Amino acid sequence: MKFSTKAVHAGVEPDPSTGAIMTPIFQTSTYVQSAPGHHKGYEYSRTHNPTRTALQRALAALENGKHGLCFATGMASIDAVVKLLKPGDEVVSTNDLYGGTYRLFTKIFEPFGVKFTFVDMGDPANVAAAITPKTKLVWVETPTNPTLRIVDIAAMAKLTQGKDMLLAVDNTFASPYLQNPLDLGADIVMHSVTKFLGGHSDVVMGALIVNDDDLADRLAFIQNSCGGTPGPQDCFLVLRGLKTLHLRMERHCSNGRAIAEWLAKHPKVGRVYWPGFPSHGNHDVAKRQMRDFGGMMSFTIKGDKLEDATKFLSSCKLFTLAESLGGVESLMGHPASMTHASIPREVRLRSGVTDSLIRLSVGVEDAGDLIDDLEQALA
Ligand SMILES: *Cc1c(COP(=O)(O)O)cnc(C)c1O
Repeated sequence: MKFSTKAVHAGVEPDPSTGAIMTPIFQTSTYVQSAPGHHKGYEYSRTHNPTRTALQRALAALENGKHGLCFATGMASIDAVVKLLKPGDEVVSTNDLYGGTYRLFTKIFEPFGVKFTFVDMGDPANVAAAITPKTKLVWVETPTNPTLRIVDIAAMAKLTQGKDMLLAVDNTFASPYLQNPLDLGADIVMHSVTKFLGGHSDVVMGALIVNDDDLADRLAFIQNSCGGTPGPQDCFLVLRGLKTLHLRMERHCSNGRAIAEWLAKHPKVGRVYWPGFPSHGNHDVAKRQMRDFGGMMSFTIKGDKLEDATKFLSSCKLFTLAESLGGVESLMGHPASMTHASIPREVRLRSGVTDSLIRLSVGVEDAGDLIDDLEQALA
């Protein structure tokens, strides 16, 4: 089945008790048992809920995986992956990591004795050099946030496959429409469902998708034991959002291209980070592993002054200044003071998060209107 058909149909079947075409919101914490231990597969909603089951199946299908697991937030899903490890284990990750992930790794899990190494994953040799006999997880994000670096997922898989080591990919920025890491050899795909999958900035949720049955069981055990699961109302909203994922992504991509090309020509704009440019450092890898280049990009204002960025951000009218991304409406952010504020300045400067860097999540509005908005704000 092709992606668009899966986006509309995967995981969802008419409700057997009523014929309802859309999966109902099963707003229940518990389920009747006809005799002790005799039930219809559902006992308690932390463990299983039918609305969540439908969503988990839909997400698995979109990522070409066998098993989907949903969590209350993207962070809760990353937390579950790290809980596969034990003290003394090591993780290799990118130095251009989502701020919340960096915080979870260094502030929460390092004190429990898990060691994290951050390298520039643009070159697989750096990852190979960082792997030790204790490395049990390689955590990849691609494209990275916010400088849109590309990591070669297949090259990472070559380093991890056949070893006692998992490869996990945070696929939030690409969405399954643009990239399917399991097909490239990853063991775990992670999503902040909050972003493109939900797509309407009205839900916070996370998900993991895997192929391996044993790994799925271990993650489901953690999901149920630690309890960071989403409620049925949120699962319903994401099921609804998924049905237009392919349509939204098409527009995110075409608007993204129009705006990236326009920014690159603007005299007041310094650098533009967008993987669709042939001049992008890893454009060839992006072309190979992604179907298109998306609507996420970042740029700097010439001179790189914080005041200029602040003035620009408060002058935009259509682009809204807010955390998050991936919604139908265009959003923009200032990584240095928002998403990446928890990363020390010297660390963020090394990965290009300078004081004037502005991140755009280009929405599905009219491209001309969006460009007019950026034009007046730059003026
Ligand atoms: C937002 C985000 C997360 C965290 O997800 P939440 O749903 O906010 O918990 C993780 N990784 C990336 C790349 C993100 O953009």
